[in-house]
Amino acid sequence: LQAIRTESERAYELDRAHVFHSWSAQAQLSPMVISRAQGSYVFDGEGKKYLDFASQLVNTNVGHQHPTVVQAIKDQADLICTINPAHVNAARSEAARLICELTPEGLDHVFFTNGGADANEHAIRMARLHTGRRKVLSRYRSYHGGTQTAVNVTGDPRRFANDHGDAGVVHFFGPFLYRSEFDATTEAEETERALRHLERTIQLEGPQTIAAIILESIPGTAGIMVPSAEYMQGVRRLCDEYGLVFIADEVMAGFGRAGRWFAFEHFDIVPDIITFAKGVNSGYVPLGGVIMNDAIYSDFTERAYPGGLTYSGHPLACAAAVATINAMRDEGMIANAAKLGEEIVGPRLAEFSEKFPNVGETRGVGMFWALELVRDKATREPLAPYGGGSAEVSEIVGKLKAGGVLPFNNYHRLHIVPPLNVTADELNAGLDVFEQVLSEANYS
Ligand code: PLP
Repeated sequence: LQAIRTESERAYELDRAHVFHSWSAQAQLSPMVISRAQGSYVFDGEGKKYLDFASQLVNTNVGHQHPTVVQAIKDQADLICTINPAHVNAARSEAARLICELTPEGLDHVFFTNGGADANEHAIRMARLHTGRRKVLSRYRSYHGGTQTAVNVTGDPRRFANDHGDAGVVHFFGPFLYRSEFDATTEAEETERALRHLERTIQLEGPQTIAAIILESIPGTAGIMVPSAEYMQGVRRLCDEYGLVFIADEVMAGFGRAGRWFAFEHFDIVPDIITFAKGVNSGYVPLGGVIMNDAIYSDFTERAYPGGLTYSGHPLACAAAVATINAMRDEGMIANAAKLGEEIVGPRLAEFSEKFPNVGETRGVGMFWALELVRDKATREPLAPYGGGSAEVSEIVGKLKAGGVLPFNNYHRLHIVPPLNVTADELNAGLDVFEQVLSEANYS
């Protein structure tokens, strides 16, 4: 233990001396040291054990250090660590085959990227080239990545500082009944009004100027608002009617997170382009990608696609993807996520909402759940402002960590997003800590 402490202290000092962290005021940080991880657990610099209810950044879908995925990376490293993407590589070919086996018919080609943001950059580039149009529509309350176009289509405050209004991006309101922008009181009303708003946006922006609509199949960081099937089917219809490319961002919701291989399967729709990252290989090695339909693929059969990356289809990342997909399938992880989500997480969160004064709506599917912390259940006033934090939310997060659970926190929300192969006992143990902490909260 002393050795772990000494090593962790040194790692921390060097981090604070030299490492520049994402989305942060550097001097205000005191990042947590993770010294070790196994399955659903991580260990801090003191050796204290936590249930990882965040799956890091909602990516370790097969848990930490899954043995067959670790072994696949080792085997690939022994064989060949890296190649020019222009060459053929067995790990990349097999990863592409396995991924296309999971997609609907007609979505049979993958362009590999390094992560989710560049997957969305390329998806939008393809849609613009395909349609000859420039604008992209996306919803408020969304996250699509930190690079220039991806952060501009993003609909959360992280966009503000990077938004110069020149990206041809138009935002619209998506359906979100709990905080309805349409004064709706039922899901059917919300769906109908959100679709009418989207169609009017398309018409008034000029359909002939719009290349694509990009939507997270289920918005993740923005709050896990599961849309109705009717809404997503309506978006599909509008895309067909006005000739727009439908890009489904499955970076967070895909690869089992929502209890299906892809979250859009819940809605009985087929997008034109799917983007993915995170869960495809549990984030063990950076990987993302764009799956395009035949119509878009055929644009680039005789003319060159103007884009590429040194690490497109990196062998270590693709070997990890092959092992991850096989492990998810062989071990029934997606069925596990769907079952335990429905039988344990959903009912227990609903009970917290009924019993505790600061718990508002809870919602989700699979291993993809959100809990709204509110000051007042009647007004639904969030316990932290949109785009910010609060002492109360920090206190709750601090108590959860003290109780041995690492939650995912965004503004006033807590997300419960453990690995897909979490056990019922682990889930209940983590939710017991939530119950204890939330029962003590009484803020107004
Ligand atoms: N799209 C969604 C839905 C995401 O949740 C994220 C990351 O959280 C991204 C895109 C960006 O992915 P990356 O951070 O790998 O660039």
